[in-house]
Amino acid sequence: MSSKVEDRIREIAEALVEQSQAKADRLKAELIEAQQGVRKLTAELNAARLAPKRLQDFQIKRDVNYQCPRCGIERGIQAAMTCRPGQHRLDLFQCDTCGFEMDVQH
Ligand SMILES: [Zn+2]
Repeated sequence: MSSKVEDRIREIAEALVEQSQAKADRLKAELIEAQQGVRKLTAELNAARLAPKRLQDFQIKRDVNYQCPRCGIERGIQAAMTCRPGQHRLDLFQCDTCGFEMDVQH
């Protein structure tokens, strides 16, 4: 009888070890994902903090091309927008780089 009890305890203990290993694998994967999340948020935070500085550097027009405000402020790059004359007294501007769109009354 006592050896049956011991066998049962050992069996349960071994099952618990197996569960712990599976849990460790899952937690390791979650930790890697969380670290990637932290890196992404840190990058976004740094970019957001740079926005006022980027506004100072942002050129609204370069040569003949109007520049995308989203690329300028969020990414710190100058990107030209293409103008498509629209209907109903609206002109549509679209960024060649990020696809940002805006309309302007004329
Ligand atoms: Zn853009």
